[in-house]
Amino acid sequence: MKPKNKFQKQVFELSKKLPSISETQVKWAYMNCIAHIGRRTKKGVISCMECGHTWIDTTTGEQCTCPRCGAKLLVTGTRQRVFKQSEYFCIVTACEGFQVLRFFYIQYYAKAGEKAHYFHSEVVQRWIAPNGKYVTLARLRPMGYFADTWSFSSTFEIRSEKPLYNLIPASIYPRQRLIPEIKRSGYKGQCHDITPFDLFYSLLADNKAETLLKAGEINLLRFFAGNFHHINSYWASIKICIRNNYKIKDASIWRDYIDLLRFFGKDLHNAKYVCPDDLTAGHDKYVKKKKERIEQERREQASQKALEDENRFKETKSKYFGIIFSDGLIEVRTLESVDDIMKEGDIMHHCVFASDYHLKSDSLILSACVDGKRMETVELSLSRLKVLQSRGVCNTSTEYHEQIINLVEKNIRLFKRKKRMAA
Ligand SMILES: [Zn+2]
Repeated sequence: MKPKNKFQKQVFELSKKLPSISETQVKWAYMNCIAHIGRRTKKGVISCMECGHTWIDTTTGEQCTCPRCGAKLLVTGTRQRVFKQSEYFCIVTACEGFQVLRFFYIQYYAKAGEKAHYFHSEVVQRWIAPNGKYVTLARLRPMGYFADTWSFSSTFEIRSEKPLYNLIPASIYPRQRLIPEIKRSGYKGQCHDITPFDLFYSLLADNKAETLLKAGEINLLRFFAGNFHHINSYWASIKICIRNNYKIKDASIWRDYIDLLRFFGKDLHNAKYVCPDDLTAGHDKYVKKKKERIEQERREQASQKALEDENRFKETKSKYFGIIFSDGLIEVRTLESVDDIMKEGDIMHHCVFASDYHLKSDSLILSACVDGKRMETVELSLSRLKVLQSRGVCNTSTEYHEQIINLVEKNIRLFKRKKRMAA
């Protein structure tokens, strides 16, 4: 992408002035980013994976020095013959008031008995102005199943923002050139497991990051770096912690804990709440409380719904209450409450309650019993005064099935009369 505005044009021109990586820097990068291996076979032969020299060494130490090239080697017992590694290396520098982060891709390939091959290429530059404004220059990075690396022949250009440019280097060159704003920020050369870009950007874009760094609240800084604006709704409480010299050990739990305090309307400016002696216990206590609150609300909603259902049921079906008839063996009666229908569904193992039959305006639910034992549940259509279905335990039919339906239809005038009376 061609530089579009004045800011991008300025950075693009300045980037041409940056010196190439020096021999010393390259050497340092190879030494510090890549694990140097002394491959040991079962017979005690060690191969230096740097220069290819092999010798017999019977000591069992984990480290040794190659007698030929002098490399410090990590001794590894393995049958593996080929070693590959790729890492990023970062140089922190300054240019015309910009803080610049230069990222180099380093590739290592070694075969037992041969000299190791190294390769490096600068792939990303982040230019950050003292006010936090920034521009990224990078090579192309084709993504795909077979191409998980950079296109080293592509040109260095201004690129629109992508998370992949927020690189995690294996190491940072110890000699760093810092702009005065970074020098004043409390940065002492350590990134504290924060990506260099997230750290420098946060420090320049928001003075809260500087406050955290100087106060030693590294866990918080690490937690919010990358999404620093999220810190705003916690800042009042964080200031209380800093003032009370309270170190937040687990930023994520503390953040959740503050959210819980907020949920329960606690004073977020009060050290008694925001600086708990036992953070985990405090957090767990409020998590439990919140679960209980949600459960209680759920119960209240359920009983509210049950009450509403009951009222609706009574309103539409109460005119048929009290209907009961028998042929001497089978007794059929109208079910007269939501509770009654729920019980019928439980005992008969069918869905009469779960499917809200009691709320269907056209359905009336009857229960048919023999000797007081529920046999079948009958659904009657009120508009047509017809039996829609009659079902026994688990939706089966009983031996009384036909007899039940006949009995209901023979007594249909009872329903007809009630319907007429109500109308
Ligand atoms: Zn060697």
